Amino acid sequence: MAVIPYSAQTVDKNDIKAVAKILSSPWLTTGPVVEQFEKAIAKFVGAKYAVAVSSGTGALHLACLSLDLKPNDEVITTPYSFAATSNCILYAGAIPVFVDINQESLCIDTDRIKKAITPKTRAIIAVDFAGLPADWTKLRKLARKYGLKLIADAAHSFGAKYKGKPIGTQADITCFSFHPVKTITAGEGGMIVTNNKSYYRKAKMLRTHGIVKKNDSQPWFYEMKKLGFNYRLTDIQCALGLSQLKRARAYVRKRALLAKRYDRAFKDSQQITLPPSIEDRKSSWHLYPTRINFKKIGKTKIQFFQLMEKHGVNLQVHYIPIHLHPYYQKRFGYKQNDFPVSVRAYSQEVSLPLYPGLTLSQQDKVIGLVRKFCR
Ligand SMILES: *Cc1c(COP(=O)(O)O)cnc(C)c1O
Repeated sequence: MAVIPYSAQTVDKNDIKAVAKILSSPWLTTGPVVEQFEKAIAKFVGAKYAVAVSSGTGALHLACLSLDLKPNDEVITTPYSFAATSNCILYAGAIPVFVDINQESLCIDTDRIKKAITPKTRAIIAVDFAGLPADWTKLRKLARKYGLKLIADAAHSFGAKYKGKPIGTQADITCFSFHPVKTITAGEGGMIVTNNKSYYRKAKMLRTHGIVKKNDSQPWFYEMKKLGFNYRLTDIQCALGLSQLKRARAYVRKRALLAKRYDRAFKDSQQITLPPSIEDRKSSWHLYPTRINFKKIGKTKIQFFQLMEKHGVNLQVHYIPIHLHPYYQKRFGYKQNDFPVSVRAYSQEVSLPLYPGLTLSQQDKVIGLVRKFCR
């Protein structure tokens, strides 16, 4: 029995050809394809500048550094995400301040942000959870009012739209990921996009050790101006990303089609809460996050997972709230029931298989099993 995973990349012949071509070119890492990929992503999302980096986490790290955060500056973010969302704040020496999510959208609750703002608050990092854009209009209003910068952790939302515009320019800096489960993949990889030239320059310099090359009479000359990193993305990876980009819209369409089929299958269920859908926000459908009332179905989450797995379907949960991780508990003393909306969402959340390569008959099998076990 072939196992249906919760997510999987789709790599086609053209991708393989594009990558193979690089292997016999003069450059394996920083060659011409890096810039081609950057330009193509910037164009796709309608931003002026893009910097390719080795991961989405690296993108978030450089985004935080581009804002020149100082030790003990505070950055507001959501606990209902992957740990990288707040780790990047710690990398930059600043302090993450969690604000609970909105129960409907599963994105940061903009009504709670005001109370978390202090004189030390410098920025907000919002996540477009599962691909559904956060409330960027309200976030921008808050940012303007309190003089804060906005970073979009758009690891889920490449290809999503907010009020008709692609995700990419709603925040001051937007970070994408090209991990295999995301909209398109480069194997690993990330991208920083911005309309701000100064952020762009800083991120680009920090990507390569903080080094700048000078047009000098000495052709070998370069100098290190800041403490940077090796966060380069290779030409090999950029060739894969560039090739995948051609199918980004088709991938999002397929994800949306599958999501609609799930919606239709479960809309009358008393036990399953469908993923949020909000007017004027077009999800990229990175995930299909259901919330299941386990009391009502008379099974624990573990039992449900095991039943599905026994029938060849692997599920996943998004996310264990960040404040529950031992590192965060030890360092900041969070308690189990801080951020109760996130904790409650975590207790019910189950992500069903969703990826462009999922066939309709595979999906029908998943639907049948979920129906059977959620009665
Ligand atoms: C995947 C992901 C990241 C990190 O991206 P990587 O490319 O794996 O480093 C960050 N934030 C969120 C919400 C993610 O899902």
